[in-house]
Amino acid sequence: MPTITRAVLVVALALMAVRSPAATPIRLMLLDGESGGPWHKWQLTTPVLKKALEETGLFQEDVVTAPAVTGELTSFTPAFGDYRAVVMNYDAPDERWPADLKAAFEKYITAGGGLVVVHAADNAFSGWPAFNEMIGVGAWRGRTEKAGPLWYVKDGKVVPDQTPGPAGSHGARIPFAVTVRDATHPITRGLPSAWMHQGDELYALLRGPGKNMTVLATAYSAADNAGSGHDEPTMMALSHGKGRIFHTTLGHDVNGMSCVGFVTTLQRGAEWAATGKVTQKVPATFPSAQTVSYRADLAAMDPKFVKGLNPLDAAK
Ligand code: ZN
Repeated sequence: MPTITRAVLVVALALMAVRSPAATPIRLMLLDGESGGPWHKWQLTTPVLKKALEETGLFQEDVVTAPAVTGELTSFTPAFGDYRAVVMNYDAPDERWPADLKAAFEKYITAGGGLVVVHAADNAFSGWPAFNEMIGVGAWRGRTEKAGPLWYVKDGKVVPDQTPGPAGSHGARIPFAVTVRDATHPITRGLPSAWMHQGDELYALLRGPGKNMTVLATAYSAADNAGSGHDEPTMMALSHGKGRIFHTTLGHDVNGMSCVGFVTTLQRGAEWAATGKVTQKVPATFPSAQTVSYRADLAAMDPKFVKGLNPLDAAK
């Protein structure tokens, strides 16, 4: 090989070495599409999730958008097995997925696939038993006591409440405190014991089987903001077969997702669901028990965001 060619090759290899990540990226499928109504704009929130996951340098994500027309779902066969975890920014009714698709997803999770359930994804598929076991608790889409008891934390314990009624409620999107209930889990280890979350929907009255479910964090659903008066589960770690599931009820919209607390727990939850471990440090900008901390760059991904007009800016 001529010296000049060899020199070029050496430089090219050196550049490749610098540019390639330290380890093989963890492949994630970001599943989005259909929603329960105009209020969950996955078209706006998926890019926020993607950016937050990408910046860790750990993941490689592909966005897979499910069709919203039942007939088109018969040819929708996502290659779940190509991914270590599915990040679900998706909500659809029971009848949407054909039996084959549901079976393929169940097989993937049972065999050890990871799942991250973000906010409204726990509204999906109210009558699909395996899905409800994966998420532990869910809301809306006709869920009642038949979906399972209400689950919340009382006197430091996760308890079922057999009171009949519908499932799902939230008040106005104001900041609220998130309290860590299990500081030993890889996702929550090293986080402050309580932190203020950016204005968001605080989901309450969640119902479900609650099997194999560890409540990692709760938020108090205050009666003066249309709440339940209970410490509601906001972050959960679950298992289903060999599969690991991280479920966060936070993240209604871009504003809620811009919270550093949401971003950090999403990043850590995705790594845990995919690998069973968390290698990421808690950022210095993590919110405290007194003050919210949000990412202006992420908040600005909502076209309605106007710098300086965020109510949290005004409060400073
Ligand atoms: Zn919502």
